[in-house]
Amino acid sequence: MKDYKIALIKGDGIGPEVINEAQKVLEALSINQDFSFQFEEYLMGGCAYDKYQNPLPEETINGCLKADAVLFGAIGGNKWDNLPRELRPESGLLKLRKNLEVFANIRPAIVFDELIDASTLKSEVIRGVDLVVVRELIGGIYFGEPKGREGNKAYNTMVYTIDEISRIAKVGFELARSRRKKLCSVDKANVLDVSTLWREVVSEIAKEYPDVELTHQYVDNASMQLILNPKQFDVILTSNLFGDILSDEASMLTGSIGLLPSASVGEKAALYEPIHGSAPDIAGLGIANPIAAILSASMMLKNTLKETTSANKIQKAISKVLKDGYRTKDIASFGAKEICSTSKMGSLIAEYVKKEQ
Ligand code: NAD
Repeated sequence: MKDYKIALIKGDGIGPEVINEAQKVLEALSINQDFSFQFEEYLMGGCAYDKYQNPLPEETINGCLKADAVLFGAIGGNKWDNLPRELRPESGLLKLRKNLEVFANIRPAIVFDELIDASTLKSEVIRGVDLVVVRELIGGIYFGEPKGREGNKAYNTMVYTIDEISRIAKVGFELARSRRKKLCSVDKANVLDVSTLWREVVSEIAKEYPDVELTHQYVDNASMQLILNPKQFDVILTSNLFGDILSDEASMLTGSIGLLPSASVGEKAALYEPIHGSAPDIAGLGIANPIAAILSASMMLKNTLKETTSANKIQKAISKVLKDGYRTKDIASFGAKEICSTSKMGSLIAEYVKKEQ
């Protein structure tokens, strides 16, 4: 019997609401299987600041490092917006990623046929889109030194080393190899030295993956191509800043921020989280869409725990629930038979998963 240790960080706002549903689905999934889950809860974000005056307590870092995987909800909210930067919830998350050395952020953008009309784009443009953005997460301009403010100027520095580019490129190529074998590396090599190095290193690593087709695009063109013809992409590989922007753009192809999961992985740890934030505007109302969090649990099963059959059961259960016309409020206008609460959506998915056992 395998006993997986999962660190749960529910966080702030709708974080606890959606992670409770992901936990419900995981528990349903482990019934009559040869594995079980041991969940340990840790604090991060505003809730950790309120308790410890520290958005990332040491205990949380250690708990995550000891776990097989981390499932995280979201952090942040207006209540903590005026704190000094290092005490804000967002600093806790950046520090956690850095401490866990999760250097690769993987964000799939999958379009569910049942929700094709949820996108603002024409259905023929997005039907069948299945792409993944691989974003470097702990380097680049978000972390580069020097940074600061002096008199009438402020500055940040975009830095990448050959090693940092190589390791993220390998993640991208490996993923492309397991999919449709196409990798598009996105940079700004016509202007930035750091991008010239990025392109050179990615081209060098490509020699180890002759079965994967490598293309390069400048980031301005890539952001246009994502809207014009998203089906051309399989895996998009890019740096921290460009990936932050492009992965949000890619997520909108699918219509709702409440549907998309992500993984942040490294050699020491793996952190799974929905791409959305803590949504303070709907927190406590019981209307948040838990599907992104539940799909994050499915990614965790597939990528880290290697329980692929179980991961696929979750995906199938979600498709079935959507096909049967159940919708949370954010996707209610698209073929709803019944509008359900966060908790009902989680329970329905858990029931469908149990039926698959
Ligand atoms: P947000 O993603 O929280 O919300 C944007 C909009 O999408 C809101 O209208 C919200 O109601 C809606 N939404 C988000 N998730 C939803 C869901 N599951 N179901 C239905 N609707 C959903 O982004 P924001 O409003 O820019 O930020 C709010 C707070 O979250 C801020 O404090 C921000 O710093 C934080 N944030 C945290 C993370 C994270 O924890 N990884 C990511 C982004 C933002």
